[in-house]
Amino acid sequence: MQEIDIAVLGLGPAGIQAGIHAGRRKHKVVAFGKPFESSLINAEIDNYFGFKEKVKGEDLLEAGLYQLKKFGVEVIEEDIVKIEPLEDGFKLLTEKEKEFKTIAIVVALGVKRKKKVFNDEEKFVGKGVSYCIDCDAWFYRGKKVVVIGEGSSATYGAKFLTQFAEEVYFYPLKELKKDEEEILIAKGVKILDSKPIKILGEDEVKGILLENETQVSLDGIFIEVGAKGSMELLAPLGVELDPESFTYIKVDREMKTSVEGIFACGDITGPPLQLAKAVGEGCVAGLSASDYVKSKKGG
Ligand SMILES: Cc1cc2nc3c(=O)[nH]c(=O)nc-3n(C[C@H](O)[C@H](O)[C@H](O)COP(=O)(O)OP(=O)(O)OC[C@H]3O[C@@H](n4cnc5c(N)ncnc54)[C@H](O)[C@@H]3O)c2cc1C
Repeated sequence: MQEIDIAVLGLGPAGIQAGIHAGRRKHKVVAFGKPFESSLINAEIDNYFGFKEKVKGEDLLEAGLYQLKKFGVEVIEEDIVKIEPLEDGFKLLTEKEKEFKTIAIVVALGVKRKKKVFNDEEKFVGKGVSYCIDCDAWFYRGKKVVVIGEGSSATYGAKFLTQFAEEVYFYPLKELKKDEEEILIAKGVKILDSKPIKILGEDEVKGILLENETQVSLDGIFIEVGAKGSMELLAPLGVELDPESFTYIKVDREMKTSVEGIFACGDITGPPLQLAKAVGEGCVAGLSASDYVKSKKGG
């Protein structure tokens, strides 16, 4: 397990800026995430300081990543799928099962924009449809489930479910990479190659109908799109979230969360969901994490 000082979770503008400030203070910083999955990727920005003309979000991300690496920050383009508290820090697990031990964490995960799979899926929430594998896997011990989704939350979630459910099906919303598919099959996950088009059942999930007219009988449907967010990764550690959204993380002016050693910045701390705010908060979070690490190391 690699030991580091600061883990930055997220490679959008907030995480990149936090990493730049922490990296310049000569800590061992590793930044995780996928820069080209940032909300900024398709944005054309006209309201950010210092640019006379519109600037492409993609160009800002590329330049920011260059700066980040210039200041010695290691970039790992993988999502974090699990965080465990330790006596003197935190243990992190990446989607490809690399482990890190860190003193401080800066959370800059942005916000997930939920994708709907079935027109009437809301009707079945709590009656067989779930958006959180970590929260609900336990209820499906010995049962039949499907994971419909994309990204690390879906692939990692399907593997995790095999520890509970008797049968796990998977329908990828985005083409799976060869290695992802091989790992899923090796774990006993059955990959569906026809699109689920309808939930079967009146008051609770009984199965799904596929485009090729096959019916699959099921007890549960997990819809997982993107990467794990604040509810799955941070709430279990006791990080206080906004009670209305269950997404936004509560922070103080130093970007400290309710858990010592964890800082947050950017869209994940709530509106306004704007680049200038993300960058400003990233700067503060990076410096606060640096001060925290110094206090722990006695520097
Ligand atoms: C179409 C569009 C247009 C926009 N236009 C403007 C504009 O004109 N002006 C403006 O100010 N703002 C604009 N915005 C908003 C702006 O893009 C966001 O406010 C900003 O990108 C937020 O930065 P962030 O770093 O907090 O999150 P994001 O940029 O969303 O980055 C989140 C990062 O977290 C990573 N991540 C997620 N989960 C995990 C995980 N489990 N482990 C590791 N990493 C993870 C992602 O891979 C990504 O790298 C626009 C947004 C959109 C979508």
